[in-house]
Amino acid sequence: MKVFKFGGASVKDAASVRNVAQILEQYRKDQLVVVVSAMGKTTNALERVVQAFLSDDTSLPSLLEQVKEFHQRIIEELNFPAGHAVRDDINNCFVEIDWVLEEHSGKGYNWTYDQIVGMGEILATRIVSAYLTLTDHPNCWLDVRDVLQTDNTYREGKVNWLDTERLINEQIPALFKMQPIVVTQGFIGSTSENFTTTLGREGSDYTAAIFSYCLNAQEMVVWKDVPGVLSADPKYYDDAIKLEQISYLDAIELTYYGATVIHPKTIKPLENKQIPMRVASFLAPADKGTLIGNFITTRPLVPCFIFKTNQILFSIAAKDFSFIAEENLSRIFSIFAKHHVKINLMQNSAISFSVCADNEIMKIGGLTEDLGREFKVRYNEHLRLITIRHYFPATIKQLTKGKTILLEQRSRQTAQIIIREDVA
Ligand code: ASP
Ligand code: MG
Repeated sequence: MKVFKFGGASVKDAASVRNVAQILEQYRKDQLVVVVSAMGKTTNALERVVQAFLSDDTSLPSLLEQVKEFHQRIIEELNFPAGHAVRDDINNCFVEIDWVLEEHSGKGYNWTYDQIVGMGEILATRIVSAYLTLTDHPNCWLDVRDVLQTDNTYREGKVNWLDTERLINEQIPALFKMQPIVVTQGFIGSTSENFTTTLGREGSDYTAAIFSYCLNAQEMVVWKDVPGVLSADPKYYDDAIKLEQISYLDAIELTYYGATVIHPKTIKPLENKQIPMRVASFLAPADKGTLIGNFITTRPLVPCFIFKTNQILFSIAAKDFSFIAEENLSRIFSIFAKHHVKINLMQNSAISFSVCADNEIMKIGGLTEDLGREFKVRYNEHLRLITIRHYFPATIKQLTKGKTILLEQRSRQTAQIIIREDVA
């Protein structure tokens, strides 16, 4: 049994959906759980729908109509026969969205977000599942919310592993008795009151890992538009190369520090059960891609770079010039936690504490204000945080030549440096 994940780019239009069917052709002998994300940029489009709804913007109907037409066009291009049920399925999704919008339940932004944005995955799986059936890939469509249970932290649902594992093991084997493929949604789950939750942006990788873990999959494959995992984002680094294999530990560290190729929560469940994961290209499905597994070392063992742009670096000192010690630190951390600002890097000295974070306008304003009430706060903006795993001193030298380093931290395997964006 294998778990496949197809992200938005792999189902962005009719040709891509056909390509998915083509890929599955090579796995006729396997039982497959196929986890699918929203098509193309649908999640972003539905986010705009939520924004428009909550700000009473008149563009709401046309934004919604665009999402509808996008999916209808794909259905037409896939040549579903007249009267095929998929058209009703899609229309029903939009009726459901209308219900949520009419309800005005007063449950707040995050609740509304999850009910609406989560529909992107329902739409995508309806179309993919129907198309696979049409092209002789018999499959069952599963509403993942019947099995993937979360708490009610909307927009960042925490998985209830006990219930989820039980439900998956109750339901999936029964579906496999009927068909060799189960098509289901990434990214979404359900509360005990049957409301939709989402697991955080790009959360479909995590969904695939949850299924892999619960079902003891033989392998999990993430199909992407890149040949595998690269040693750096080519946008920021010219000499990026493809990694053949990555150890679980390196994969966890790289995603934790912000490598966006895989969702950070994905690797740990796989590692716990020693399930290998492959990142493969849906454009060249016969190529091996990158294997993540129980390797002693990553190969080739080259420095791996993670670039985080738009960083802010705070320097926080006590107003009375006392040392920054435990009590001050615990106050500082609680203020960061209150504003949900994730710390990317921190460093302590006797009288000041430095913290680097993503410069998210919505959060940082309130944070700075709260910190300023109790501490002396200075900050630098427009910074870039570079994390290098398996660094050599020469690599850092080369990377920072002629640039001012605002902060630097090294452990045995990982170096992190903060430089200014404009000179990067
Ligand atoms: N569709 C969701 C997103 O774009 C989840 C995912 O793609 O993994 O964030
Ligand atoms: Mg997506």
